[in-house]
Amino acid sequence: MATDHVDVLIVGAGLSGIGAACHLRRDCPEKTYAVLEARDAIGGTWDLFRYPGVRSDSDMFTLGYSFAPWTDPKAIADGDAIRDYVRRTAREYGVTDHIRFRHRVVRAEWDSERARWTVHAHRDDTAETVELTCSFLFACSGYYRYDAGYAPQFAGAQRYAGRIVHPQHWPEDLDHTGKRVVVIGSGATAVTLVPAMAERAAHVTMLQRSPTYVMALPSRDVLADALRRWLPAKAAYPVVRWKNVLLATANFQLSRRAPALVKRLLLRAARSRLPAGYDVDRHFSPRYDPWDQRLCVVPDGDLFAALRTGRASVVTDTVDTFTERGIRLSSGAELTADVVVTATGLNLLALGGMTLAVDGAEVDLAGTVAYKGMMLTGVPNLAMTIGYTNASWTLKADLVAGYVCRLLRHLDRTGQQVVTPLPPPDGELSPIIDLTAGYVLRSVDTLPKQGARAPWRLHQNYPRDVLLMRHGRLTDSGVRFSHAGTPQRRTVRA
Ligand SMILES: Cc1cc2nc3c(=O)[nH]c(=O)nc-3n(C[C@H](O)[C@H](O)[C@H](O)COP(=O)(O)OP(=O)(O)OC[C@H]3O[C@@H](n4cnc5c(N)ncnc54)[C@H](O)[C@@H]3O)c2cc1C
Repeated sequence: MATDHVDVLIVGAGLSGIGAACHLRRDCPEKTYAVLEARDAIGGTWDLFRYPGVRSDSDMFTLGYSFAPWTDPKAIADGDAIRDYVRRTAREYGVTDHIRFRHRVVRAEWDSERARWTVHAHRDDTAETVELTCSFLFACSGYYRYDAGYAPQFAGAQRYAGRIVHPQHWPEDLDHTGKRVVVIGSGATAVTLVPAMAERAAHVTMLQRSPTYVMALPSRDVLADALRRWLPAKAAYPVVRWKNVLLATANFQLSRRAPALVKRLLLRAARSRLPAGYDVDRHFSPRYDPWDQRLCVVPDGDLFAALRTGRASVVTDTVDTFTERGIRLSSGAELTADVVVTATGLNLLALGGMTLAVDGAEVDLAGTVAYKGMMLTGVPNLAMTIGYTNASWTLKADLVAGYVCRLLRHLDRTGQQVVTPLPPPDGELSPIIDLTAGYVLRSVDTLPKQGARAPWRLHQNYPRDVLLMRHGRLTDSGVRFSHAGTPQRRTVRA
């Protein structure tokens, strides 16, 4: 078996992987690279999810790449438009030809003597295992399992005569026209599905155990529309991007400092879009503070509009059992349904499920600490992309890719080959994702940690990260640069 070698091996051809490859083309054109993608398509999330109405819930001026202006009129965009944008960018930067599809990376082994990773990928189509080596491994594999969404076991589900579907595996043949639909869930997917399905269904009920904050935003950006009339896209784009970054940062900071005020404002805004007397407290007032969990955005208030017309409704209750005809609730009420959509979430997965070994020792991910939110203590020449939870994913993905290019250039300049993050000297460790959402809490024990202070602490703050990652020093006390042949010391804290 021939073993190919590249300077940088990117895992995943979603928004982040394509972005990483474009950054390499721009900033390190002399580096060789390949992208290994488990599926047979570009786009990741935006290719996988095909449920009705699938769209972003952050604006595309910040979910788009810093270097590729978003020119579509819609700021909150449909899944298809995002997928096309990612594919187009890959084509324009000549990345598409570097992607090896149907290569699922299962393991990577670091050898300090040679300063190389040996990467093992499984081909699901031919059942072969392919081996490549690389000097730097860049995991852009997203944050959840692709093969199975989170689907809790509901009592009685086997006797239900209708159809149960999960948004992650939407059946092409499902026609919900004229059907009674129940969507179980209250997150971004549920609030997207409900108004989209209500256009053709007889009725859609959103069945939620507990409410989420829902905020209406315009689907078009007034400033972008105005600027684009006068300026070329390349000039208008960064202005709108920074305007949206600053608004989102201010919104998050205000939520953290004055949660009661933000809660009041959100509920007042919801009330103004719903019929008089609607029980906003029961259905739209969560028990937690804004941004303890991700806030749901609805473009032009489409969810509220569907509730106003009566084509959709919200029920806040829990499933007691499925029956032949629908769902019996803990309150005793029954919802009749032809189709039940379990918008119950994702299963988190770090590094696309690949295992790591450094000089023969297995890496326990939960025992590592994230350095600048993108590298792992004790693991040389590896970066991973985990986007923001309180802002658009790509803002962070862009910074990470830019930082990796800076690191690679620094290594070349100094004649060194290896960069390894060191553990924080002291301070409490906490989960790398500090949301209280169920999908985070279910998996948090398997994920890397973060430290108490920079550079091991994530600030979830883009302007601050721009200073740290685009302009900050590469050589701080949290990282060691070395030559090939330098053995890795034990760097995981006891
Ligand atoms: C329905 C939905 C809506 C979302 N909306 C938003 C939004 O509006 N704003 C926002 O900021 N974020 C949103 N997110 C988060 C979203 O995932 C990110 O915005 C972004 O798409 C992540 O891109 P990515 O490339 O990092 O990961 P992904 O899109 O998950 O792509 C990862 C790629 O890596 C591949 N891969 C994984 N493991 C391996 C492996 N072991 N070997 C080879 N290939 C592998 C996958 O097949 C996939 O193609 C949303 C997520 C979901 C599920």
